[in-house]
Amino acid sequence: FDLPKMMGQANNEQTILQCVQQIGPSVGAQKMLTWEFQHAQEAEMSGVYITWRSPQAKDDCFRVGSNSKCFCGHLFTSHEKKLTAKKTSTQCQKCDCKHFQFVPRRPEEVGMWWLPRRKGFNINTWRASCQCKHSHEEHKPNRPMNCKKCGCYSFQSDFCCLGCDQKFEEHETLFETERERQVQGKPIRQEFLPLAQNPEIQRETMKKLGIDGRSAEQRFLDELEEEKRQAQEEQTHSSLGIPLKSGQKELVLNPHKGGSVPQVSVIIDKSKNYNPKQDVKRPEKSIQLMNKNLKK
Ligand SMILES: [Zn+2]
Ligand SMILES: [Zn+2]
Ligand SMILES: [Zn+2]
Ligand SMILES: [Zn+2]
Ligand SMILES: [Zn+2]
Repeated sequence: FDLPKMMGQANNEQTILQCVQQIGPSVGAQKMLTWEFQHAQEAEMSGVYITWRSPQAKDDCFRVGSNSKCFCGHLFTSHEKKLTAKKTSTQCQKCDCKHFQFVPRRPEEVGMWWLPRRKGFNINTWRASCQCKHSHEEHKPNRPMNCKKCGCYSFQSDFCCLGCDQKFEEHETLFETERERQVQGKPIRQEFLPLAQNPEIQRETMKKLGIDGRSAEQRFLDELEEEKRQAQEEQTHSSLGIPLKSGQKELVLNPHKGGSVPQVSVIIDKSKNYNPKQDVKRPEKSIQLMNKNLKK
């Protein structure tokens, strides 16, 4: 199920919707979406909005954050984050990369949805690459980002951005404060969350991804509560209309035999080990002869 190629008309919201369609079959889409939501939440909490964007893009191409990878091959978390009003310092602590520069981490981020399904594909070795056929990690992290393996003078992506259809080199990683974005009319806070324009799909998606704000413990408790509720809905009265107390259930003997065989309905205590051979006369088990009722 190949998706139509988008020619410059796409924006982030459409990209995300495309991901939502892929959630079921694609681990990559799930990851991408989770990262987008997580990075939006990080931005709201820190007040610093980090995005990847090209001048041609209508909005932010990617939300950048702790899961994002830098051109140098190291994660965002390995970079220094000194963000003052005057200067952004994002030097890498693992190599001599001077500035964090977002680079796609997965083939899905450059629209190659089919690639991970190909036999022999390995996500751990896949890297976004240059037209010289060498990966971003094989290029020097600082300008002019020349190739270490061939005479290529500067990294030129052999892929296009999923959001704006432009090349990697058309983009920049932007660090903005909430105020700076507000002044420019760019989305902030709740509006910055993926699918903000489609609240229903957003809610469902967050639920599916397990990022709807509930803790793992709360999710577990909610599930228990839900199971309990369903169990109660199942049987609140015996087939004769006698209300069942919690922990009781109805046991129908000789069901659907009809004719002369009496149908017997027994209400038993679910929590106790019910063994009729031993203890039929215990008071908490009420026995009703159903055929009595049927004769009325
Ligand atoms: Zn770096
Ligand atoms: Zn680095
Ligand atoms: Zn190159
Ligand atoms: Zn090269
Ligand atoms: Zn873009």
